[in-house]
Amino acid sequence: MDNKVEMGGTKIGIITSGAPYNYVKEVFGDGVSVLKLGMINPLPEKLIRDFASKVDKLYVVEELDGIIENHCKSIGVSVVGKELFGYLGEFSQKTVAEKFGLKAKETVCADSEIPARPPVMCAGCPHRGMYYVLAKNKIRVLGDIGCYTLGAQPPLSALDSTLCMGASVSGLHGFNKALGGDSQKNTVCVIGDSTFMHSGMTGLANIAYNGSNSTVIILDNSITGMTGHQQNPTTGYNIKGDPAAKIDLEALCHVLGIKSVRVVDPYDLSECETAIKEELAKDEPSVIISRRPCALLKYVKPKKALSVNTDKCRGCKKCMGLGCPAISFKNKKAVIDATLCVGCGVCKQLCAFGAMESEEDNK
Ligand code: SF4
Ligand code: SF4
Repeated sequence: MDNKVEMGGTKIGIITSGAPYNYVKEVFGDGVSVLKLGMINPLPEKLIRDFASKVDKLYVVEELDGIIENHCKSIGVSVVGKELFGYLGEFSQKTVAEKFGLKAKETVCADSEIPARPPVMCAGCPHRGMYYVLAKNKIRVLGDIGCYTLGAQPPLSALDSTLCMGASVSGLHGFNKALGGDSQKNTVCVIGDSTFMHSGMTGLANIAYNGSNSTVIILDNSITGMTGHQQNPTTGYNIKGDPAAKIDLEALCHVLGIKSVRVVDPYDLSECETAIKEELAKDEPSVIISRRPCALLKYVKPKKALSVNTDKCRGCKKCMGLGCPAISFKNKKAVIDATLCVGCGVCKQLCAFGAMESEEDNK
């Protein structure tokens, strides 16, 4: 925070937070006084009043709702905010410049030379094996919200829909009720353990109570992956990491009315394939729990990386179909990056030529 005189002799100040702070700095540099708030709840009343007393005109630059603005007004500090910036859209330095009647700075656009790098599931991600089997068998998959939504990306392209949290399970029920017949023998939903606890179990109760012939796959990686490894009621720890009551997923599914509940290891492709085929063939609702902890959990120790025997590799690229970021292709052969590979062994199950070798193979 400093004091500068700008904008036609009027000493202006800007209160901002998060990404909009960067846009303000790009536009004004050190030319205006800026109060950057690191936290917007609780808001610092005294700091804001002090800042306001040192400027002639005060602006609030914040995206979406006027949280800071409303707080300032509620404590009697006059600010200009949403009447200038509006509630919609994402800000940029161009937005900020234009709203202040300034010319936006020239920007450089780096276009086609940079390849797209979409987010991918991690090397050794336990969801990969299950997705591979679903895609291989051309199963229609209703997806849900979590790190596992990344299974919609090529090369797996395993998900056919994703709507909102819990919609995979309730959607599957409606889908199967509406279409029935052979369709329900070829359709499943996938939902993470955490999302299941959040909003999937109500849908499962609906499936059991109203009797749709649905197969629900719970992708149990024993953590809430997407948002940064928060605990959930199935892990046995509360959000602070203290021991807590652990919900037994199998028992919960039974108590909701599902008789057929089985657990598989997603690193075992043939076990997954057998389970999917058998559960889809049944004339009753069922649950498959695909259980393997997230490869990034501290207590999950990686195995030694696999390597490719280049004499055996025929360059068929079948292993590339997994989308494991540790596998690439060079000089017509597969290559494994030993710094990424966690030795899960899923790719090894795909290679018909025995080219993927693990530590045991080389003993
Ligand atoms: S599946 Fe086997 S043979 Fe085919 S590219 Fe991969 S390592 Fe080589
Ligand atoms: S064993 Fe294969 S699939 Fe597993 S992390 Fe290593 S390269 Fe990826």
